[in-house]
Amino acid sequence: MSQDLFRNDAYLTECTATVTAITPQGIVLDRTVFYPLGGGQAGDTGLLVLADGSEIVIGDTRKGKAEDGSFNDEIGHLPPSDVLIQLFNQEQTAAVRLAVGDTVTARIDWARRHRLMRFHTSTHLLCHLVPQLVNGCSITPDYARLDFNMTDALDKDLLTAGIARLVAAAHPVTVGAITDAELDANPELVKSMSVQPPRGSGKVRMIRIGTEEMIDFQPCGGTHVANTAEIGPVVVTKIEKKSASTRRVVLGFTP
Ligand SMILES: [Zn+2]
Repeated sequence: MSQDLFRNDAYLTECTATVTAITPQGIVLDRTVFYPLGGGQAGDTGLLVLADGSEIVIGDTRKGKAEDGSFNDEIGHLPPSDVLIQLFNQEQTAAVRLAVGDTVTARIDWARRHRLMRFHTSTHLLCHLVPQLVNGCSITPDYARLDFNMTDALDKDLLTAGIARLVAAAHPVTVGAITDAELDANPELVKSMSVQPPRGSGKVRMIRIGTEEMIDFQPCGGTHVANTAEIGPVVVTKIEKKSASTRRVVLGFTP
């Protein structure tokens, strides 16, 4: 099972790791800084740098699926499909050589990930500003969208001003945990109807924004910035009426 270093430190940009498997679902490492697609947040991209200095480009990261269709904890680093097929078939060429047991440096595209972290943390601020259940979420390097289960209209400028105020207040963002039982006793902590809390170990990872003043506190497995000040100039670019009971808020960066 891959050790997911990004959960304890979202600011790690690289790590050394050993290749433990090459599967049709991707290259598996014993530990990684690559976040796999999940909870609405896009998977990381980057490079695997081999001992001889050659590089394998990673275009996406996905959690593997077990044979029976259930999720397992393997994190698949996905090179271009022709490269993956070649590696899986153990066809070593001058351009691409990689085998189980090899040591690599796994390095994410940090500029891209940092944009994901800023947008992801912004979606938590939206949860504070719009106290409604969320029924959809997508976080990309270029925009984020959050779908709220509600019928009332939302004001774009008011939400942008609200985000700016929370960013300017420089609230710390901290990672913690509660037990499964504590979460079961406080179901209102779960704000998403579409994403299941990250359970499994008996503990649920929690993200808290704010110290004395609690801005947001909810289960989340994603990567976040350490302080809301780091979000910078994020604005609401669009509000859409997705359906009679869904209002979609789209976030973007001020150019
Ligand atoms: Zn989150």
